[in-house]
Amino acid sequence: MESESNKTMIELIKVSKWYNQFQALKEVSLTVKKGERVVICGPSGSGKSTLIRCINHLEPHQSGQILVEGVELTDASKNIEQIRREVGMVFQQFNLFPHLTVLQNLTLAPRRVRKVSKQKAEELAMEYLSRVHIAEQAHKYPSRLSGGQQQRVAIARALCMEPQVMLFDEPTSALDPEMINEVLDVMIELAEAHMTMICVTHEMGFARRVADRVIFMDKGQIVEEAPPAQFFDNPGNERTKAFLGQVQKH
Ligand code: ADP
Repeated sequence: MESESNKTMIELIKVSKWYNQFQALKEVSLTVKKGERVVICGPSGSGKSTLIRCINHLEPHQSGQILVEGVELTDASKNIEQIRREVGMVFQQFNLFPHLTVLQNLTLAPRRVRKVSKQKAEELAMEYLSRVHIAEQAHKYPSRLSGGQQQRVAIARALCMEPQVMLFDEPTSALDPEMINEVLDVMIELAEAHMTMICVTHEMGFARRVADRVIFMDKGQIVEEAPPAQFFDNPGNERTKAFLGQVQKH
């Protein structure tokens, strides 16, 4: 029996993905345990976004296996629905519905997918809005909020489904610099609350602070993975060294 802390949350086994003739993922294998915080970095076009989009089946993979809490992802819609309930996702663009208030954005999926009552969904939404420090904005429309506030709403919206895992795809890349920290602070709080997280980000300070493991991807493959201290201070791979040299220049 696996203990709770040793439980495998996500497992990728030799996952390959093609966009037409172009192979974006090349037999990628990765195991993420419950409570683990993993940061994925690497040059643009290396397959980071594709990798995490495959985990909740926003992109289908063509070979290999992806398991979420031991359940293999297949093309069956019931299976996809089941997996998406467990896997929350936050995108670079916040993807909030502009015609719904913040509160309505948050209650939509719990009511429709989880069949939670309106009252319970609103209670849950207010709880998570408080957690991202934005409860006072509940009745506004997204366009009235700053980018940093909208991204915190998007994080709260994902949390309202009470997922087992949170995936972040460059959540601060579209933000003005002065708003990056308010989003990273919320992510740090989540990490400290032991949420299982996989984050694609170039925020290396964040990676150092919260990651259990940093993964470096290049050309559709994982070429290095190590705890942050080792990854940043003593990378083993030449491509990682070159990448870190570039990132540190900016
Ligand atoms: P990253 O997140 O590391 O920047 P992506 O996963 O977005 O990389 O992309 C990996 C590669 O796959 C890139 O070469 C990109 O051009 C290609 N790609 C991504 N999405 C598509 C798509 N929908 N159709 C065709 N090619 C794509």
